[in-house]
Amino acid sequence: MKIELPELPYELDALEPYISASTLDIHYKYHHLAYVAKLSNLIAGTRYENADLMTIIREANGSVFYNATQIWNHSFYFASISTIRGYNLNDRFAEAIRSSFKSFGAFKEKFIKLAASNTERGWLWLIVNESGALEITQDNDTESPLRKGLKPILTIDLFDHAYNLDYRNKRIDYINSFWNLINWEVIEKRYLNVYAINELRKQLIQVF
Ligand code: MN
Repeated sequence: MKIELPELPYELDALEPYISASTLDIHYKYHHLAYVAKLSNLIAGTRYENADLMTIIREANGSVFYNATQIWNHSFYFASISTIRGYNLNDRFAEAIRSSFKSFGAFKEKFIKLAASNTERGWLWLIVNESGALEITQDNDTESPLRKGLKPILTIDLFDHAYNLDYRNKRIDYINSFWNLINWEVIEKRYLNVYAINELRKQLIQVF
């Protein structure tokens, strides 16, 4: 399978004033594209030449795994945000947040606090764990929640290149801006998909 740069789901200036067109331009057209180019070169003529991204992330090691993970993470990050505002969460997703974090406010506070205190260059995730509960996890840039069997539904890129042009070293300002951009409709859809698969699995286990 040819590894390609996925289309950005909005225009470069769509996230202003939270994330500038210049930042998005560099982040998407330079960094994201560079991972695509590197991985394409690395897998040419190898057993991964025709593999899809998910297979590479599950099976490969070293720089092949690293670049595949960065491609996937960036596509997921860009698709996690948008300019859509004011979405009301579905009861099932809202209840999952409450049961894992006590309240939506407590979840927000924890997410922002962990993102701000993360000293690693890397990613902060909201994932669905093996028991179906929501959890916030942190990965440095050589790990992937997919590799650990977790189901990510939201991520924030905490690399300097995601924000230093707009916010210098004030990462907390970037995190607050990111929070304003989260596309809850997409995040909820991801959660409900994982939930539906888990329910189906439970039913299958009961049948057999
Ligand atoms: Mn990045």
